[in-house]
Amino acid sequence: MRIVLVGPPGAGKGTQAAFLAKNLSIPHISTGDLFRANISQGTELGRKAKAFMDAGDLVPDAITVGMAKDRMSQPDAANGFLLDGFPRNVSQAEALDEMLTTEGMKLDAVLDLEVPEDEVVKRIAGRRLCRNEDKHVFHVTYSPPKTEGVCDVCGGELYQRDDDSEETVRRRLEVYHTQTEPIIDYYKAQGLVVTISALGKVTDVTERAMEALRSDRAAQA
Ligand code: AMP
Repeated sequence: MRIVLVGPPGAGKGTQAAFLAKNLSIPHISTGDLFRANISQGTELGRKAKAFMDAGDLVPDAITVGMAKDRMSQPDAANGFLLDGFPRNVSQAEALDEMLTTEGMKLDAVLDLEVPEDEVVKRIAGRRLCRNEDKHVFHVTYSPPKTEGVCDVCGGELYQRDDDSEETVRRRLEVYHTQTEPIIDYYKAQGLVVTISALGKVTDVTERAMEALRSDRAAQA
């Protein structure tokens, strides 16, 4: 399956993507994770991306699209992938369509995670990530680690993302509304959008998402 996950910052895209990708046996491709990996490895691409990320802005398409295409061309993505954080504007969606058409492929679904704005701010402000592995995510209130500041999974140090500060979150939300939300209409026109509520327990949201994808598949068959 080829799936795009959309939703505002703090909707839990990364967390859900990790579970869904595992359930569906497809790789989880997050452009945000790819940028952060480049930053921690000190690459030229990471250096270019960092200033945009710290400001809460989108990294320019000229950098992002090539990086995403490279990752989607890896052998593990030949039979499907779950995209998290890409595309993030209509021109990236067009570039993705073009790439898929060239390869004779198409998307199966666009899963839209809905969450109210005040909840988004609460979720992001309390979010803590593990320095060893971005996919080990905690929340100071909703899913606190057993020991404050320490990852339950691997013992790594927990930290707050530079772009999770309140000021940057507001900018990221504005960018989401003005640049990313239009892709939902773009994909609605292709009949691909499946919307679910991202409220509630992580496992409940995953189950809701799996069920929505199953019904969508059945309806298309
Ligand atoms: P995320 O981890 O998905 O929240 O992404 C963190 C930041 O990385 C975003 O706020 C952007 O600055 C940048 N980023 C991630 N994906 C994209 C994308 N598809 N296009 C442009 N910038 C992106």
